[in-house]
Amino acid sequence: MLGGGIVGCSIAFGLARAGLAVTVLDEGDVAFRTSRGSFGLIWTQSKGVGCPDYHFLSRRSADAWQELADELSMRSGVDTGFRRPGGVSLYTDEPELERRIALCGQLAAEAGDLGFDYQVLRRPELDALVPGLGPRVIAGVYTRYDGDANPLALMRALNGSMQAMGVRYVPQAKAVFKSAAPNAFAVSAGGDEYRAPKVVLAAGVANKALATQVGMNVPVRPQRGQIIITERARQFLSLPTWIIRQMSEGGFLIGDSKEEVGFDERTSAAVLQDIARRAVLSFPFLASLRIVRTWGALRVMSPDGLPIYDQSERCPGAFVVTCHSGVTLTATHAYHVAPAIARGALVGLDSFSTRRFDVQTVA
Ligand SMILES: Cc1cc2nc3c(=O)[nH]c(=O)nc-3n(C[C@H](O)[C@H](O)[C@H](O)COP(=O)(O)OP(=O)(O)OC[C@H]3O[C@@H](n4cnc5c(N)ncnc54)[C@H](O)[C@@H]3O)c2cc1C
Repeated sequence: MLGGGIVGCSIAFGLARAGLAVTVLDEGDVAFRTSRGSFGLIWTQSKGVGCPDYHFLSRRSADAWQELADELSMRSGVDTGFRRPGGVSLYTDEPELERRIALCGQLAAEAGDLGFDYQVLRRPELDALVPGLGPRVIAGVYTRYDGDANPLALMRALNGSMQAMGVRYVPQAKAVFKSAAPNAFAVSAGGDEYRAPKVVLAAGVANKALATQVGMNVPVRPQRGQIIITERARQFLSLPTWIIRQMSEGGFLIGDSKEEVGFDERTSAAVLQDIARRAVLSFPFLASLRIVRTWGALRVMSPDGLPIYDQSERCPGAFVVTCHSGVTLTATHAYHVAPAIARGALVGLDSFSTRRFDVQTVA
């Protein structure tokens, strides 16, 4: 396994459950590490419009998250902070709300037998679910499928669980391919050489460069998000909203920015001010809380926003796993994608193959 973030560790955990001997090589703190900067939503309500397979994948993961949280807690002793009270998106603007309602209608139509329940809650009905709203909020869209978890605790729980199951975890080990042939891979990392019949690329934004070594086109790019954390307050919000959630410790996590700035993890005053301004529109009481920390982190984005799961045609045995919602998809990665990799074929995951990028290039 090349990469020990949330995605790499969830796949390694799943491979160990499937009985494989696994080594995780992770570059470490000097690398871009999306998992350290995540917001922590398990979010399905906007996922997969126009691609029902992605919606199914996200829903399946959200449905399996409780089982995952219980298993990780049992194996590692770490509580991921998972809860699933549903999630709500808030709207201050009627046209934006109408667009959202249309999108939910499309998701419901495409979901077929799985169904997609959503509720449009106007004021004052919304206030019963979400206290403290400002006068500019006109409505919210609620779905019962969503929730949140603590991403850092999730990292610890995955890492502890996989090591408890015999996975060898090697930090400070940036992997470089020495050779790649069908079912025969050699990499050097941290001064040692590793050989294996299978290799999984789970190195986040570094997957693009690594994939070329096994003949794959994985056109992921970094997309920056900035986050604000406030000081602790009494427990107030019992469910996450799209841009604001309250952690179990009491602090509020705020942020939904998306910036195309390349490999730049810095924060900027302009974006943080905009995040804070919009947050205060939704919840005026936030203006009285002090900001204790801010950060920027890079999402791992594919051109169409969908995950990428594929096996190399040139070098069978080399797999790539990457996505922009690795917290949401943790359970799917551990319980479904990893077993498929263990079996050697990504059956049922065709929608996420790299072949879609070849089609776009030709078009
Ligand atoms: C601001 C922000 C908010 C987010 N909010 C959410 C959310 O609410 N819900 C959600 O589901 N997702 C969210 N995400 C996305 C989620 O955090 C990511 O999908 C997930 O963390 C990606 O994990 P990863 O393991 O693919 O990448 P990373 O965490 O980047 O891990 C990749 C690892 O690969 C290692 N590496 C790199 N190169 C090499 C190499 N050559 N050899 C060995 N190791 C290497 C690095 O050291 C790193 O540890 C958010 C992301 C951001 C930035």
